[in-house]
Amino acid sequence: MAQVTQDAAGAPLTFAKRFARVSPADRAGTADRVTRYVDVTVPLVPGLVPLYPGDTDLSVRREQHRAHGDPANVSSMTCSLHCGTHVDAPVHFFDGQSGVDTVPIGTLLGPVWVADATGVDGDIDAAALSRLAIPDGATRILFRTSNSELWNAPRFVEEFVSVTPDAATVLAERGVVLVGIDYLSIAPYRDPAPTHEALLRAGVTILESLDLRAVEPGWWTLTCLPLRIPGADGAPARAVLSRPSSPDGDR
Ligand SMILES: [Zn+2]
Repeated sequence: MAQVTQDAAGAPLTFAKRFARVSPADRAGTADRVTRYVDVTVPLVPGLVPLYPGDTDLSVRREQHRAHGDPANVSSMTCSLHCGTHVDAPVHFFDGQSGVDTVPIGTLLGPVWVADATGVDGDIDAAALSRLAIPDGATRILFRTSNSELWNAPRFVEEFVSVTPDAATVLAERGVVLVGIDYLSIAPYRDPAPTHEALLRAGVTILESLDLRAVEPGWWTLTCLPLRIPGADGAPARAVLSRPSSPDGDR
């Protein structure tokens, strides 16, 4: 496997930079593989990130300024907890149920199957799901759909590809622990509760608003850490996919 010796601009990589690109497993082991990371988090830019109807406007504002004599530059943020890339908790649809802080870390980290659902016309129902050839061992599944193109539009679009309740039930019965999708909701806009309920009732964690435009279908490793907000119905998260770079040097 070719060693990466140049950065994206063609400059030689120092040893330290090269080392930093290698996963701990590789460092301890044999290969000179490098890891490819894809940040699938939607940037929280007011006015550019589409918001679900009814959600609180996103605002990121500098409140203290060194230039004005304040001890540091300090900003504030207001938004819905379902703004941008985020995790849904059971209490999002079930009063009295657990919050996002109780989602097991082990659910949010590990192998994930990115399903190619770009050819699905309409919603992902049980029949469409069965045609996606998801491996039996996949317990975390992200759906890459035609929704990914909607990230080019700053306004919320009501017609997006979602998962229907019957497909959600199939996923729960398969033992899936996490399901994600590349738009603001896993569920049809007109009737969001049944799909959310089928997943959350079964303990399936929901990850929404992923930008999967740069992600090829197949196996990846998911790293997703929502903010630790006790009892919250959801929380913004940073989500990254990674896998070994291919021999021809993609990264
Ligand atoms: Zn949500």
